[in-house]
Amino acid sequence: MSKVIFLTEQRRASLPEIWTGDLPAAGEPVRDLRARPLRDLRISVTDRCNFRCTYCMPRDVFDSHYTFMPHSALLSFEEMARAARVFAELGVEKIRLTGGEPLMRKNLEVLIAMLAEIRTPSGQPLDLTLTTNGSLLTRKGRALKDAGLNRLTVSMDALDDATFQRMSDTDYTASDVLRGIDAAADAGLDNIKVNMVVRRGINDDQILPMARQFRGTPHVLRFIEYMDVGSTNGWNLQDVVPSAEIVARLGAAYPLAPLIDDPMGRVAERWRYLDGAGEVGMISSVTQAFCGGCTRARLSPEGQLFLCLFAGHGHDLREVLRGDQDDERLRRRIAQIWTARGDNYSEQRSAATGQGPRDAERPVEMSYIGG
Ligand code: SAM
Ligand code: SF4
Ligand code: SF4
Repeated sequence: MSKVIFLTEQRRASLPEIWTGDLPAAGEPVRDLRARPLRDLRISVTDRCNFRCTYCMPRDVFDSHYTFMPHSALLSFEEMARAARVFAELGVEKIRLTGGEPLMRKNLEVLIAMLAEIRTPSGQPLDLTLTTNGSLLTRKGRALKDAGLNRLTVSMDALDDATFQRMSDTDYTASDVLRGIDAAADAGLDNIKVNMVVRRGINDDQILPMARQFRGTPHVLRFIEYMDVGSTNGWNLQDVVPSAEIVARLGAAYPLAPLIDDPMGRVAERWRYLDGAGEVGMISSVTQAFCGGCTRARLSPEGQLFLCLFAGHGHDLREVLRGDQDDERLRRRIAQIWTARGDNYSEQRSAATGQGPRDAERPVEMSYIGG
């Protein structure tokens, strides 16, 4: 018993002083140094994945010797849901579950059901979405929908199997992912986005086939510029196909017109097919930074809060979540971290014509923080 008390006191001593700054008025979001509200939370539920996409988890680094996080280090579903509840009090309206491959975390639908219970200060449920490589959707789609998932993003980089496997370094095929998308749509997850990372000379010949596949369906294809995330993928500016070039190549086959919407919180620039076959999105993180509207916080599998995809370090929330600390301390800790945020890495990278400044520490890997 005395040992337990000792550990608790030791942990309390290691916690930072409780922040006494001003919290936003009830119902108002907390804002950072650039007045960006905290609106979106991405929770990475695992650092493991059944794919080895060359641009994210190159196999020579993420091999059988790679040490993934032990289960005991991961936040439990209860801890994630508690954090999510407090984030919602501070302005978060949308939560995206990601990873690694989030569907590799056992019983993920249990977490979704817990998140679906949460209400914002105005009494609204959260907008719950998930990013997945799609390989396990045929098995999981219905359980996710039944648990309360609202939307889904499926990553798929090619229609042609050989190119698909060259990008994702897996035995799964493009048809497996298409079957997963169909299964999810059949289960009622009808608002599906398909994300395609484009690498020059590797899968850019798949831009048109992928567009053809999803034109005229309810699914919105979005092209992502290959990013310099982490330190393992050997990123090079020459490998990036700028969105403007994708628009030109796609528009030559299927004329496009821009759709204008609110830039705050927006990731993709939207374009519609002039023939009425739906829309596509461009995620231009390299050539057109959108830091000015970045309302996203990212929670790692072990409870580190990251303020930018390119940050070198996170802020520990697990210590507060695992201690006997009340929600007030957690709320104040999150508000303290967000109000001091000034991150704008992509803008700085653009200003440096692609050779971006780096945090002095090793930048975080995409498979850890989840995109
Ligand atoms: N495993 C899931 C998946 O692939 O959808 C979720 C995690 S994954 C890290 C999230 C997204 O990040 C995917 O759409 C993936 O294509 C994208 N991504 C990973 N590395 C990237 C990079 N270097 N540049 C651009 N997008 C990247
Ligand atoms: Fe896995 Fe997603 Fe990274 Fe591919 S992009 S290796 S599927 S985490
Ligand atoms: Fe947000 Fe950082 Fe990306 Fe800018 S670089 S949009 S601040 S995550």
